[in-house]
Amino acid sequence: MNIVIIGAGIGGLSAACLLAKQGHTVTVLEKNAGFGGKMNLVEQNGYRFDTGPSLFTMPEILESLFEYCGTSIPKQLELVPLHNNCRYFYQDGTQFNNYSDLDKTLQEIRRIAPEDEEAFTKFLEYAESIYHKTNDAFVLNPLYDLKDLKGLNLFSFFGIDAFTTVSKRVDSYFKSPYLRQFFKRFTTYNGSSPFLAPATLNVIPHIEISQGGYYVKGGLFRIAQSLYDLANSLGVNFLFDSEITQIHVLKKKVTGVEAKDGKLLDADLVVANSDATETIVQLIDKDTISPKKKKKAAQIEPSCSGFVLLLGINKTYDQLIHHNIFFSKDYEREFEQIFTEKVMSDDPTIYVANTSYSDKDHAPEGSSNLFILVNAPYLSDSYDWSENEYGDKVIRDLEIRGLSDLSKHISFRKEITPQDFYTQYLSNKGSIYGTSSNDKFSAFVRPRNKSREIEGLYFVGGSTHPGGGIPLVIQSALNVVELVERFE
Ligand SMILES: Cc1cc2nc3c(=O)[nH]c(=O)nc-3n(C[C@H](O)[C@H](O)[C@H](O)COP(=O)(O)OP(=O)(O)OC[C@H]3O[C@@H](n4cnc5c(N)ncnc54)[C@H](O)[C@@H]3O)c2cc1C
Repeated sequence: MNIVIIGAGIGGLSAACLLAKQGHTVTVLEKNAGFGGKMNLVEQNGYRFDTGPSLFTMPEILESLFEYCGTSIPKQLELVPLHNNCRYFYQDGTQFNNYSDLDKTLQEIRRIAPEDEEAFTKFLEYAESIYHKTNDAFVLNPLYDLKDLKGLNLFSFFGIDAFTTVSKRVDSYFKSPYLRQFFKRFTTYNGSSPFLAPATLNVIPHIEISQGGYYVKGGLFRIAQSLYDLANSLGVNFLFDSEITQIHVLKKKVTGVEAKDGKLLDADLVVANSDATETIVQLIDKDTISPKKKKKAAQIEPSCSGFVLLLGINKTYDQLIHHNIFFSKDYEREFEQIFTEKVMSDDPTIYVANTSYSDKDHAPEGSSNLFILVNAPYLSDSYDWSENEYGDKVIRDLEIRGLSDLSKHISFRKEITPQDFYTQYLSNKGSIYGTSSNDKFSAFVRPRNKSREIEGLYFVGGSTHPGGGIPLVIQSALNVVELVERFE
């Protein structure tokens, strides 16, 4: 078949590899000049930054893709397990190291929260039990039709702790304010609020703490590079600077796509890696999808966005390791500002990735490349990003929290705002993880990987089932291929 993929993000690249391997003729049309989408790269003044993901989890999903295409992770990438997953800095001066070695982490817990030593182990057992109930049923399953529901134990929905919030469940286990904040943090991995999202998302600490988080030698952009190289080797055709403005449909079946410059491409199948909401609302005409249905699609809540500050610093800070989190004082207030008031927090939690800690050539000698991320509300009228000085505030906050004289050591600076995430990648309201999981039914309203209304239209990427983040995006491509095999 002749297949067109809209977008060369991780979702589009993954789908391109798999569909080309199936023997189809695949063309990828990408609006930007390069591939990778939100997994992007900035290289300047001797500094190298990943501008999107910094932590890679669930490598077995990427391995399934590589295996399908006749290769493997060891042949493509060097995964680096982190011995210290992340260093946490609390505002009272307390520091906590979350090691990949559980015994070492337990020593840390005995130091900062001895009252919760037993709770820590019990919580990880609880998180693991959610993983076993959700992984096959909700993650590795296209959940498209009755066949997908057959093997499911429907009672499992009641066993996945969906009827309380992450925050309430965490509080029920821990007394320590340090561990409460630590465990609530993982909900932000898919852009949701721990005070709103179902406790099912407590599965995430199991994935990072018990299964492991990885860095990719050279930087995470290498994942996008390896998929792009693989796609090329499988004969995929890439057309960059090609923004698609319409998906052509005749009698409820796709016939092709139209680019901004008027170029037309015929297709038997179209796979949209463009944001699913944007695709339904902007790229399909109203005779095919009614305004009422478009309105419904537009109402799906996006995940949060992010404010990114890339700093090249002509010194190193001894307290910084690879991943670092500087926590806010009042976590609930912070999330209320982001998700309810939709403004930037006045006391944000600040994430700092310092890949020059692991890859010395990511910064000139004696210097460091700081990728700084603050959770941000998705775009709305409540916050104006034009002429914004939030970057200066974040630098001042980091100075107060221990990175002394940071502002005096900046030799490179670049900001990426939620508005940029929209303009550059056309992601719904600048969201960075697709749709939010702030509701217990989120998993069910997220668009499936095959359209039920338009024959030959498929969806891949973080705004589709099973959700955002690298492994789930790759899983969405595996789902697409399974559904193409099933239906075409
Ligand atoms: C700052 C940040 C930090 C993150 N941290 C992590 C992390 O640590 N770990 C993790 O697992 N995940 C993380 N994520 C999430 C992860 O990056 C995303 O889930 C994933 O990269 C999304 O891939 P995608 O293919 O779904 O979408 P995208 O990357 O958005 O790709 C979509 C592509 O389609 C193109 N496109 C859109 N519309 C059109 C059109 N009309 N015509 C042509 N092309 C179009 C876009 O330009 C883009 O290239 C992070 C994201 C960000 C931004």
